[in-house]
This record gives sequence, structure tokens and C-alpha cells, in this order.
Amino acid sequence: MSTSPAFPVNNALEVHDLHVNYDDGAEGVHALRGVNFSIAPGEKVAIIGRSGSGKSSLLRVLAGLVAPERGHVQIGDHLIGPDRHPGRSIYSDVGLVFQDYGLVPQLTAMQNVMCGRFHDRHGLASLGNFPADDRRRARQLLTELGLNERLHTRASKLSGGEQQRVAIARLLLQKPRLMLLDEPVSSLDVHWTKQALELMSQPESGSSTLVMVLHDLSMARRFADRVICLHDGQIVFDGDPEAACCRLEAESCPLEPPAADGTIDEPAAAFVSSTCPEGRECADPRIASSPTPSEPIADGVGGLWGKTSFYVTVALLALVLYVWAAMGVEFSVTRIFSNLEHAVDFGERMFPPDFAVTATVASSLIETIQMALIGTSLAAIVSLPLAVLAARNISARPLQAGARLILNGLRTIPSIIWGLFFVAIVGLGPFPGILALTFYASGYLGKFYYEGIESIDMGPLNSLRTVGASPIQRFRWGVFPQVLPLMLGYTLYMFEYNIRAASILGIVGAGGIGFYLYTYINNFQYDRAATALLLLLVVVTVIDSLSSRLRARLMD
Ligand code: ADP
Ligand code: MG
Repeated sequence: MSTSPAFPVNNALEVHDLHVNYDDGAEGVHALRGVNFSIAPGEKVAIIGRSGSGKSSLLRVLAGLVAPERGHVQIGDHLIGPDRHPGRSIYSDVGLVFQDYGLVPQLTAMQNVMCGRFHDRHGLASLGNFPADDRRRARQLLTELGLNERLHTRASKLSGGEQQRVAIARLLLQKPRLMLLDEPVSSLDVHWTKQALELMSQPESGSSTLVMVLHDLSMARRFADRVICLHDGQIVFDGDPEAACCRLEAESCPLEPPAADGTIDEPAAAFVSSTCPEGRECADPRIASSPTPSEPIADGVGGLWGKTSFYVTVALLALVLYVWAAMGVEFSVTRIFSNLEHAVDFGERMFPPDFAVTATVASSLIETIQMALIGTSLAAIVSLPLAVLAARNISARPLQAGARLILNGLRTIPSIIWGLFFVAIVGLGPFPGILALTFYASGYLGKFYYEGIESIDMGPLNSLRTVGASPIQRFRWGVFPQVLPLMLGYTLYMFEYNIRAASILGIVGAGGIGFYLYTYINNFQYDRAATALLLLLVVVTVIDSLSSRLRARLMD
């Protein structure tokens, strides 16, 4: 196996004996099996073939996203092979429009397009705003593609065709010499398809070499000057689109010499049946239609009984578990009802509440809100880097384990113990309370944040890779916009929660309304405690309704 090119590299693209194998279960999926071709500068090549024939896998290798198992690819000075991964610099020469567009849904059309310049935009400035030059060009491209009224609309609000045009505009801004397009016109009408392809062919776009996966031969005949047909990971046709269709339809020139018994080879048959244009039916009796899958045999009584007995067993096990737990903690409903008079007595002592203490309680409540505000904000700042390190999809394994251990430790210690700890260090008052809330809430926020990061769509991150974005640019423009609404929502929730947590901290002398609650109850001044609880209820209810409105707006 060789990793160096065995041919002159004056072509735009050389593909040599390419094999791609996905490690999927015991056998793996052999998506490409020995693919060879080369493309001259300026060629427009259509790749066609049935679903699953390996078209997207081929483009993913050419874009450096998937490493081949064998063989190599040469694009200009860049060599891609099993042990040769291209660096970021390849994305000045190669760009890809993904089958599912690969836009960051939370970024606007303009922002998505401007990401196309990351391969030559480095430094901290690229994490803030985009240069005026890029803005001007992005606006121009989007206008040429009919999106002048959607410039500042978030990608998630655009239709499929509009998203596809944004992805094409991003590729045009990237200006790679070799443009790879995975079904670039699947959602576009003929007008926009022609416009997009014309823009790609202009010298200003920096490239006229196109490799595009298209639906079928009719599309290839319209938009390409050469067609490569893939079937089952192999090339079964490579040549002029017109010739391909005529040869396959007329059957006078099948792809392979006909077999002695007159049948055409199976890949060619599959190709004809899937790709000939409308009005040129290829009804060939020798192309056997795939057999209709037989109806699944009903489960029958045996299956039903099996399921029922499974559910009965699970229900019995759950019942045993609950009985065991209730016995362990001496849980007793009768004990509640046999002592109801105590509860009534407790309630009677609380009413009517003593509103004489309203001013005192209100000022301590304000202190509680201030503690929760500062504690939650500090916790958000502390937990964000920990969450980034802990997230499985964007961090290295040893870092994940370390960050998770720290977050687990922070969560394990109850807030009141943190309170005692900081009162011992810095003395009484709201300050130790703030520190306690910060540490305690960091454990929770960190966990919420990393779970949010793990649930993001990785598609946009891959597409940011193919515009040459650095890891920090990918985080800023790919991860952060996706998790920001979720993170703000969790932080608001934690703020609400911390107001209640801060109420408890007063018990250990760490400030806030808790101090008064604890004192009133200790002195049997339940009517005063009732006033404190009522005011707390009002504040919690108001914050709850404000934050749920805010969260709903953020998630929109
Ligand atoms: P096409 O784009 O022609 O529809 P693909 O290149 O996407 O085909 O897929 C080729 C084959 O590889 C299919 O059998 C598909 O199921 C398989 N495949 C694609 N991606 C993966 C993956 N990430 N893991 C495992 N198998 C994959
Ligand atoms: Mg595909």
C-alpha cells in the first residue's frame, strides 16, 4: 500500500484505489471499493448512483472528513490517505456543501455565509464580529441568490431551498478551487439551480472545478459535462452524460460486454432503472423488480402471553421494591392522620400572619435575591469551562473524567454544609452565603451545561471544519449558539432555585431571609414566620413566571 501519488499532479483532483470502510458492527460497511478517477481543472462532474452507493462517502473523503481505509487522494499539494489527514489549510482549496446544508440553525443567513472565510480569518477578532469586507460580499452573494430579504433571518427559520442557497453562498465566499456539492440542488427550482451553478462557474468565485452529487442522469445532462456513476461503492460508468444515457437505454452498448445469455450486468441494470430521465422509460423485462417483502408473521398468542408475563413480573418486582423501601423508613399513612391535631395547631398559630415584620423580612428578602443573583452568576462563570472539558463530544477523554469528578464533588456536598464551611472561613453574613451558592450551584450548572453541549447537532460543526474553522472558532460559532438558549434557561432555573436555597443558608448564619425564618420558628413566632413565607412565595412566583417567559423566548 502506497501513500504517495503515482501520477503527475496537474489535475484538480486525483483519486487512486480509494477504499472506505465504516466500522459498523462485526463486518463493517464497505462504502467505497477501489475507486479511481481524476478530474481536470474546470471540469463539472456529476456523481450519480442509488442511495447507499457511496456518493456522500466519496465527498466526505475528498473533504478530509473521513479517512480512507486504503488508497489516496491528491488535491493540489494536499494528500489524503489512511495515515495522512489534511490540515486546515486544505480548506482554501476544497469546500463542501453538505447534503443537509450543514448550517448553524441559530446563526443568521449572513453569519452562516461569513463563516466561509474562517480558513483565512484567524485570531481573537474572528470570535467577535466579521470584517466589513466579508459582510459586503456575503450580502452581495445572498442578494444574487434571491435572499436579500432574508439576510438577518436565522437559518432555522429558512425553508429548505433558502437554506441550500445560504450553504451555496457560504461555499462561494469560501472560494475554494475545488467545489464539492452533495445534492446541491435537491431543494432548488431550475431558476436558482442555474443561478447557483453560474455563480460557481464565474472566475470571481475562484473555481470552476465542480464535483456534484446529483439525483439522476437528466440532472447530470443538464448541469455537468461528465458523469461518474457509482454502484455499490464502485464506478460503473465514467464519461459523457449523453452517451451514458443513450448507451444504457439502447442497451446496444451496455457498460460491460453482455453476458453470453444476453443479460446485462446487475450494476448497469440498477443504474438504468434509477437514473433515466422522464419520458424515456427503460422498461426492461430483464431488470427484475425487487421482490415485495412478505408480511411479517403475526406474533400470535405465544408472543402476547410472553409480553404479558414480562409486564406482570416487572410490576411485581416494582411492588416488592416499594414495600421494602417503605418498611425500611417506617412509612405510615396512619401516623399522619392520627396526629392531625398537631398540624391544625401549627396552622392556627401561623394565622393571621403578623405583617408588622414586613419591612424587616422584605429587606432580608432583597438580600436573598442579591445573594442568589451573584452566586448564580459566579457559578455560571465557574461551570462553563468545566462543562466544556466534561462534554464527551468536544473534549478529550482524560479531561472529561477530571472535570466530571470535580462537578460530582461540588454537587455531592449539600448547600448547608458549604454554608457552614464558608461561615467558618469568612465569618457570618451574606458573603459566605454567596460562596456557598456559587460552589453548590456550579456542580449542577456544570452538569446541565455539559449535557446540553452533548445534545447539540454535530452536523454544523463538521461543516465549520470544512470552511477551515479552528477548534475555538468551531466552539464560538458552532457549539455556543446551539447551547446558549439552553444554558440561559438552566441558569435562570438555577437562579430561581438559589433563592430557595439561600433561604436555608440563613440557618447557619450565612445571611438572607433564612436567618429570620429560623429565628421566628425557634421562638415559636409562627405568625411572623408565615409573613416571611408569604413574601418568599410572592417573590418565587414572580421570578418563576418571568423566567419561564424569558426561557420560552430564548428557546424560540
Ligand atoms: P449515498 O450518499 O450514495 O446515499 P453514503 O456514502 O451515504 O451513500 O453511504 C454508503 C454506505 O455507507 C451505505 O451503506 C451507508 O449505510 C453506509 N454508511 C454511511 N455513513 C456511515 C457511517 N457513518 N457509519 C456506518 N455506515 C455508514
Ligand atoms: Mg448521500
